[in-house]
Amino acid sequence: MYIVAVDPDTCSGCDACADSCPAHLLKFVDGKTEVVGDETECMGCESCITICPSGAVTITEM
Ligand code: SF4
Ligand code: SF4
Repeated sequence: MYIVAVDPDTCSGCDACADSCPAHLLKFVDGKTEVVGDETECMGCESCITICPSGAVTITEM
């Protein structure tokens, strides 16, 4: 199981990650990206980490 998190202080709001997530866990809200739904549905594919230019996304394997 993986858990995804976005650091709001590091996120620059580029909105690059939302479309990269096959589980639709990342949503652009008020200029920042937030994790929506069940963060434990992250599949650990690392698409969001690869595309994020700010290093704002982390996934943790539980
Ligand atoms: S690792 Fe993959 S499934 Fe998990 S939040 Fe990132 S893009 Fe979505
Ligand atoms: S790709 Fe990174 S900097 Fe851009 S919106 Fe997503 S978390 Fe924020």
